[in-house]
Amino acid sequence: MSARILVVDDVPANVKLLEARLSAEYFDVMTASNGTEALAICHRAECDIILLDVMMPDMDGFEVCRRLKTDPATHHIPVVMVTALDSPADRNRGLEAGADDFLTKPVSDVVLIARVRSLTRLKMMTDELRMRAITSLEIGMQAPERSAVADTGKGGRILLVDDRESSYERLATILAAEHTIDVEPNPTEALFHAAEGNYDLLIVSLDLNNFDGLRLCSQARSLERTRHVPILAIADPENSTRLLRGLEIGVNDYLLRPIDKTELLARARTQIRRRRYTDHLRDNVQNSIEMAITDALTGLHNRRYMESHLATLAEQAATRGKPLALMILDIDYFKSINDNYGHDAGDDVLREFAVRVRKSIRGIDLACRYGGEEFVIVMPETDLHVAGMVAERLRRSIAGEPFAIHKGAKRIEVTISIGLTTLEQKGEAVADVLKRADTALYRAKHDGRNRVVSHAA
Ligand code: GH3
Ligand code: MG
Ligand code: MG
Repeated sequence: MSARILVVDDVPANVKLLEARLSAEYFDVMTASNGTEALAICHRAECDIILLDVMMPDMDGFEVCRRLKTDPATHHIPVVMVTALDSPADRNRGLEAGADDFLTKPVSDVVLIARVRSLTRLKMMTDELRMRAITSLEIGMQAPERSAVADTGKGGRILLVDDRESSYERLATILAAEHTIDVEPNPTEALFHAAEGNYDLLIVSLDLNNFDGLRLCSQARSLERTRHVPILAIADPENSTRLLRGLEIGVNDYLLRPIDKTELLARARTQIRRRRYTDHLRDNVQNSIEMAITDALTGLHNRRYMESHLATLAEQAATRGKPLALMILDIDYFKSINDNYGHDAGDDVLREFAVRVRKSIRGIDLACRYGGEEFVIVMPETDLHVAGMVAERLRRSIAGEPFAIHKGAKRIEVTISIGLTTLEQKGEAVADVLKRADTALYRAKHDGRNRVVSHAA
């Protein structure tokens, strides 16, 4: 998919120029001639990256950028300011407004395309995560967008890789005002150090003695532990072509020496803020995956997960010629626990029950909450005899020790009945196995409860 680039400039000739260059590289180009129009396009999520002119009547580029970056709906869209002014003060105004980078007019083709490509990759990755993360409302997490907009970008953990003492001492002093900073003067140790340190940002000098800083950047990109850590490269102006190569291999941003203090701080904050936002999205995705397969009250797997996984386990058992045991456990007279002590007490019992189940089974066994007070445990490579012993141990672990309710103020007796069976013949439907276990459970209830009944296949 090619990225959609929004070019914003009040001078039609400038728009045409950038449009032609980007189209030649197969980017999809949209245009706007003022800030209001640009904001509307961003709000409709129609573009991936914005090239934003600074000097425009009505609303200038700084203001457009500031509005985009403080709005949860648009803060993640990369903004490149395109400016004729190239004083540090102007750059810093843009960076303070949240701009991701600057291009100076007249814009160099090579720099333009390298930048846009690198930001496109970043935007695509963020979009993918945003899409997968279900809304925070649904899973009760704080909205990542809201905290990203509020994030100052300060208080990060930074690793600085630089072997020139005068350089790293100055940079470390500047950065220490806002972050925790470690210095690694030995480039051969840097990758190891980066992987161990759980950093929010790597700053890598490309002017190292006898060492290719870009190699370090590329290794950091391929290593699992550092893959998502942003990299800010710094280089002498004569090394600036290597910076473009750096963008291609995954460097996120760069600075040329001599390094301006305010600009260094602003660029570090931007990278750290992005890093925290994408981490937050990633956690959100992970959580939603877990939520989809977990029962919220007990933390055991839910019925949906068990039903889809049981079929796989049954197939595996059949092809490997191994037995598979399955039991249904049901708490006896659970309704009267609710009736006598309240629903919360019932919930306490269910939670503690799950804790005891987990303690009694192996890691490869699959335990799930099948319904209200009914649970299923599937045990791979286990025959009826062994499963019978496990079931009996489980029954005793419940009946043998009263359950605490009302925050420990009271303890009550709880018992369970268990129906047990195995799958042994090839190709048997899992529904039939469940039905057999259920019949056994019914017998256990009928025969007086607090017991295990096995039903051979
Ligand atoms: P039996 O020994 O025959 O299994 O009797 P029982 O009372 O355990 O069985 P019954 O099916 O009559 O009642 C189950 C009760 O479990 C009814 C329902 O209100 C309660 N229940 C289901 N889910 C929950 C829950 O999440 N929390 C609580 N506290 N109770 C629940
Ligand atoms: Mg203008
Ligand atoms: Mg019951």
